[in-house]
Amino acid sequence: MIMIPKSHPRYHSLIQREKLVEGVKKGITAMQGLIAHGRGEMFDYVLGEKTHDFAWEAERVAVAMMLLAKRPVISVNGNTAVLVPEELVKLSNILNAPLEVNVFHFSVERVRRIAEYLESFGAKVLAGCDAELKGLEHGRRIVDSRGIMIADVVLVPLEDGDRCEVLKRHGKMVIAIDLNPLSRTARMADVTIVDNIIRAIPNMIEIAEELRQSNRAELEKIVHSYDNREILRRAVEAIRDNLTEKAKELLEL
Ligand code: ATP
Ligand code: MG
Repeated sequence: MIMIPKSHPRYHSLIQREKLVEGVKKGITAMQGLIAHGRGEMFDYVLGEKTHDFAWEAERVAVAMMLLAKRPVISVNGNTAVLVPEELVKLSNILNAPLEVNVFHFSVERVRRIAEYLESFGAKVLAGCDAELKGLEHGRRIVDSRGIMIADVVLVPLEDGDRCEVLKRHGKMVIAIDLNPLSRTARMADVTIVDNIIRAIPNMIEIAEELRQSNRAELEKIVHSYDNREILRRAVEAIRDNLTEKAKELLEL
């Protein structure tokens, strides 16, 4: 990894890029993952690179849903594995939700590398690849018969739109983390967290530590009356307001 001075104004962003490039070299992240990350960075930029109130709300509902679930699962792809491995393990332990490797650009070798990488952080990982979700043709159809196949709630950071749709058709509740509030994934999910996974997962750990003391009625109250469309509307408006603000700043220069 190259040396990036901490004083660099885009230090955190550059570190994330380095992690992803390392991930590609290790055979964990797909090259296409770098492009997907670039799209994410762009949305993070226009959102002001912070967790907005609508994201906090969705993160809270997501945690409550996972705690209420009978069989919650956290789906992990090559980008998520290299960006937040320790945090995923921690969240998985608190929520009692196994990590399952699930990738778009599938190969047995890549799945094994991701699983081993997560295991090096102490995770218990499902990577059986012994079941198929009907209705999909790409790699994400291949799942674990003990995990996503029988899960009732699935947390899918960086999901793609069509699998999100198929998971819904299989009767699962889907929680997505996606910086693009306009994506198909964002629209298809039951809960969409419009936030960078590097903030969303730590936020969810913090919320889970608080909520795990709650009883079912309290958790149900959090989930009840949640409106994902309203959350997405607020996210799009946050982008609009931020851009309006930036345009004003230019006028005042
Ligand atoms: P869809 O099929 O849902 O319309 P897409 O094809 O537009 O999605 P993909 O290329 O499949 O998008 O996946 C990349 C998505 O992941 C983008 O929407 C991007 O904003 C989001 N993304 C990338 N990196 C991050 C990140 N670090 N945190 C949160 N979201 C991210
Ligand atoms: Mg897509």
